Amino acid sequence: MENVIIIRYTEIHLKGLNRPYFEKALVRNLESALAPIECAVVRRGESRVYVENVPDEKLDAALGILGRVFGVHSFSPAIRLPQDFDAAAAVLAGLVAEERAKISKDTVLFRVEAKRADKRFPLNSNEIAAKAGGVILKSVQGLKVNLSNPELTAYIEIRRDGAYCYTRVLMGPGGMPVGCNGRVALLLSGGIDSPVAGCMIAKRGVALSAVHFESFPYTSEKALEKVHDLAKLMARYTGPIRLHTIRFTDIQMTLYEKGPSDYLTVLMRRFMMRIAERIAEADGCKALVTGESLGQVASQTLDSLGVTDSAVDMLVLRPLIGLDKLEITNLAERFGTFETSILPYEDCCTVFVPKHPVTRPRMETIRDAEAALDVEGMITAALATDVITEIGA
Ligand code: ATP
Ligand code: MG
Repeated sequence: MENVIIIRYTEIHLKGLNRPYFEKALVRNLESALAPIECAVVRRGESRVYVENVPDEKLDAALGILGRVFGVHSFSPAIRLPQDFDAAAAVLAGLVAEERAKISKDTVLFRVEAKRADKRFPLNSNEIAAKAGGVILKSVQGLKVNLSNPELTAYIEIRRDGAYCYTRVLMGPGGMPVGCNGRVALLLSGGIDSPVAGCMIAKRGVALSAVHFESFPYTSEKALEKVHDLAKLMARYTGPIRLHTIRFTDIQMTLYEKGPSDYLTVLMRRFMMRIAERIAEADGCKALVTGESLGQVASQTLDSLGVTDSAVDMLVLRPLIGLDKLEITNLAERFGTFETSILPYEDCCTVFVPKHPVTRPRMETIRDAEAALDVEGMITAALATDVITEIGA
């Protein structure tokens, strides 16, 4: 008899011949996420993955980690024992007694859900459920069977490699294993939106590089530290992040002095995209990702987003485009980045904000403004300031 954690995935099933590739990516990510639980072993089973060898005192920590690994649909701490019905029913009754004790009610509605994955087993699913239910009712007080609306469900699965008993099904974050869909470069500010955008795109199976623009001395050490902290929090979901920090001050000063003031944000944005595109290419990224959402501010109107995109050739993804601030905030809370995002340190874009930012920038005006600048020289100088930090590796 041993403790195991059953891990279920769904979307991976859809991938046909690619399935082993996705399963291997999931196992690899589970192994690195579970590295703090030193003795834990991750093993592929039939259409599922098992985590074995987790000591009791580390179980909660392990379950916490599994709730953050993309590709995990749901998971259950379970007991595995040989395929012996009587022994399994007794173990299940013990688990039910534990759960039952947590509910302070005279009668708790319960049911047994059984699955016979090994068709050689003599009882079918219904027979297993009925028989196990009988054993549990005899040994645990204060239970009443209710198949349609139970407060407590006991699960028993008969598989080739043994019987599995459990009472808890915890939800994972869903999505696909990070790394199985390539790599992207996230423009990471210290705000609420871009960390969420990074987690959402990682959920689709992509690994992250991140580019942060700082405006030292107008932005502080604290502001930079906050971005590092955000990247660390994100990495709990996204896996390791390669963070590039670019000094943006000179570009901002030049644009401030030479550009039309109402175009300042849009021009800055175009430089950010160009620099991020170069970094993305060097890191093997296939797209840029931002935290923009349509209409949120002047630089996020359709016209502004259009002129921002036209500065680069690379695909630009905006996972939050259709979400409002409340929805984004809820996601930030779920990913655990909200509290850090709202710390009041200035961002490079808040230092240089035009009084009246354009909402409908004209491409001609932008072309004229940029024609007066040494765009390539400004980009090269900024790239030379790149400081790379591997976060959460
Ligand atoms: P966020 O909360 O992500 O900062 P926001 O709603 O405040 O977004 P803006 O400040 O206009 O919007 O920024 C829009 C997007 O541009 C951000 O989501 C981010 O992807 C990128 N961005 C803005 N500032 C920076 C920065 N200093 N470094 C890197 N990317 C940035
Ligand atoms: Mg911002």
